[in-house]
Amino acid sequence: MSFVREVVLVGGGHTHIQTLKSFARKPPRATRVTVIVDEPQAVYSGMVPGFVSGQYRKDEIVIDVHRLSQLADTRLVEGRVIGVDSHGQKILLESGEKVAYDVASFDIGSTVAGFDVQGVQEYAVPTRPIGYLCQQIEQIMRKLSSGNDRGPINIVVVGGGAGGVELSFTLDQRFGSMGLAANVKMIEKEQELLLTFSASIRKRIYSQAKKRGISVICNSEVSRVMSDSVVLEDGTSLNFDLLIWVAGPWSQEIFKESGFSTDSRGFVLTRSTLQFEGYDNLFGVGDCATLKEAPLTPKAGVYAVRQGPYLTHNLYKWLEGGSLKSYHPQGDFLTLLNLGNGSAVGGKWGWSFEGRWVMKLKDYIDRKFVADFS
Ligand SMILES: Cc1cc2nc3c(=O)[nH]c(=O)nc-3n(C[C@H](O)[C@H](O)[C@H](O)COP(=O)(O)OP(=O)(O)OC[C@H]3O[C@@H](n4cnc5c(N)ncnc54)[C@H](O)[C@@H]3O)c2cc1C
Repeated sequence: MSFVREVVLVGGGHTHIQTLKSFARKPPRATRVTVIVDEPQAVYSGMVPGFVSGQYRKDEIVIDVHRLSQLADTRLVEGRVIGVDSHGQKILLESGEKVAYDVASFDIGSTVAGFDVQGVQEYAVPTRPIGYLCQQIEQIMRKLSSGNDRGPINIVVVGGGAGGVELSFTLDQRFGSMGLAANVKMIEKEQELLLTFSASIRKRIYSQAKKRGISVICNSEVSRVMSDSVVLEDGTSLNFDLLIWVAGPWSQEIFKESGFSTDSRGFVLTRSTLQFEGYDNLFGVGDCATLKEAPLTPKAGVYAVRQGPYLTHNLYKWLEGGSLKSYHPQGDFLTLLNLGNGSAVGGKWGWSFEGRWVMKLKDYIDRKFVADFS
């Protein structure tokens, strides 16, 4: 009998789905592959704002990881991973189950910063896990739209990055399309929204926010959340019917608690081969890993997507022998921000553009990505 090595893929993110697709075409020899996911279906985040605005149905924005795993003839374990025993080479699940590995890869995404702010866990709707966000949005829409004779719906979005901006515009659109007035406020702790984006994109977003009546409050941090209001550090209180928490990416505790080298937010540090610092048989990709050589690379799906061919190549080579490839992130990427009304703002290399054609381009790219895994 041939020697069987255990390959474990933890998480069904943007990178692992590509590896699974390759394994379906060319299964690695003498290897058992196990996929561990907390949810059998992965929601494609790039289309979530479109789902919020009512542009997409839920079934149009999910990738069936369970089905991909069947196609690749791999074992699927459903459960939440909470740690790694790197000496015993075992992945630890919340259920108490342990899964042995010879080589393992992590693509488990991120969680949201600021969960420790008083009241956030009780009263805010966080954008992670993203499947939970979609469920919550639908429930809240039903609840808020059923009350007759009410005044405008107060929506507070905490976080003025790309996710916060898109959700502000798409929520405004969704309530508007239901004939309900929404009063949307975006809160950002830095001096500007979209601080890591070009000035040209920012200008367009500010101008659109003004046109749509979306308020932007910068240089402000939330100090406390209560059942129906947020209190800012300067004491200002803002009422809300819906509070969306999208305060930037933060890592799950897994890596720190398992004793791996991490950055200040707890993301595991990786080398350019995508291997963990100090470990040749552990790989980390997507949001959950920070490349030591490029620690400021944004946590964005486009990078996770680009890493797919590198991770796949490196796993085959790890198993079969041969040199691993180094991944170096691109300097900039095409930004496409959904404004919810059939239009989008886009930009790259300091240039920006907007219009219905930009939304059409985004729609084409996003639908194609999901279709490639259907
Ligand atoms: C509203 C919103 C819109 C966005 N839009 C864009 C965009 O347009 N373009 C862009 O580039 N980026 C966008 N992003 C950022 C993007 O979502 C992330 O960068 C991207 O999802 C990271 O991909 P990933 O492969 O690292 O992880 P994910 O896509 O988050 O996948 C993680 C996977 O791991 C599973 N998992 C998580 N934890 C565990 C665990 N403990 N045990 C087992 N399984 C686990 C999850 O169920 C999931 O299958 C957006 C983010 C938000 C919040």
